[in-house]
Amino acid sequence: MTENLKNRIAFVTGGSRGIGADIAKTLARDGFDIWLNYRSNDAEARKTKEAIEKTGRQCLLLKFDVSNFKETDEAVSPLLETQTPYAVINNAGFRRDTLLIWMKEDEWKDVISVTLNGFFNITKTVLPFMLRKREGRIINIASAAAHFGVPGQSNYSAAKAGLIGATKSLAVEVAKRNVLVNAVSPGFIGTEMLEGLPMEQIIKNIPLGRVGEASDISELVAFLASDKAPYITGQVFQVNGGIGA
Ligand code: NDP
Repeated sequence: MTENLKNRIAFVTGGSRGIGADIAKTLARDGFDIWLNYRSNDAEARKTKEAIEKTGRQCLLLKFDVSNFKETDEAVSPLLETQTPYAVINNAGFRRDTLLIWMKEDEWKDVISVTLNGFFNITKTVLPFMLRKREGRIINIASAAAHFGVPGQSNYSAAKAGLIGATKSLAVEVAKRNVLVNAVSPGFIGTEMLEGLPMEQIIKNIPLGRVGEASDISELVAFLASDKAPYITGQVFQVNGGIGA
C-alpha cells in the first residue's frame, strides 16, 4: 500500500459484480477502503467484500438503488457525518436494449435514470464534502455506445453520452477545489452485461480481435484515482480495443 493512500475511501457504485467489483478490488489493492454499493445481488456483493477484506482493507456494503435520491441520501448521508470518500466511481448501469420503434417508456426512463439520476444522486450527496476537503476524484463509467451508433441502444447511448457531458461540465465547476472529474468509456468487456449480444459479429469489428477484461478498465480507474494523476480532469478515456480508431 502506498503510505499516502492510508485511510482513503473509494465509493464504488454497482460494485457487486462485473467491472464495478473489479474496480473495487483493484482500488483496495492500492490501499483504499471501499464503500461498495449494489442493487440486488447479495451473494456477489458478499464475495466481493470478502475478497477486499482479504487484502486487509475494509469494505462497507451499501445496498440501494442509485436512481432513487431518497434511498441514496438515507444510505450515504449518515456516513458522511464522519467520513468523506476521496474517490467516487459512478459505475452502476444497465441495459434494456430494443429498437426505438418498439421501446416502451419505462425502458427509456429506467436506463436513463440509473446512469444519469444515479450520477446526480451520488455525486450531489458526496460533492459538498469533497469540496470542503479540497480534494477528490470522480470517475464516471460511460460506454462506447456514447461515441458510436449501436442499434437497440438509443436509451443507453443517450444516458452514457449525457454522462460524458455532465463529466465535462462538473470538471470545470470544481477544478479550483482540486476535485478532478473524468470518464472512462469501455468498449465490450467480458461481463454479464454482454449476455445476449451477437458476439461473433461484434468481435469482427474490434481491431484487437477480442473483448476486453474488467481489469482493462479498473487499472485505468486506479490510475485516475491515484496521486499519479493530479493534472487530468474533464477527460474521456476510451478503452475499447481500437474501435473507431
Ligand atoms: P454488470 O451488469 O455486470 O453489473 C452491473 C452492476 O451495477 C451490478 O453490480 C448491479 O448490481 C449494479 N446496478 C445496476 N443497477 C443499479 C442500481 N440502480 N443501483 C445500484 N446498483 C446497480 O455490468 P458491467 O460490470 O458490465 O458494467 C459496469 C458499468 O460499465 C456499467 O455502467 C456499464 O454500462 C458500463 N459498460 C460496460 C460494458 C461491458 O461491455 N460490460 C461496456 C460499456 C460500458 P446488482 O448486481 O446488485 O444488480
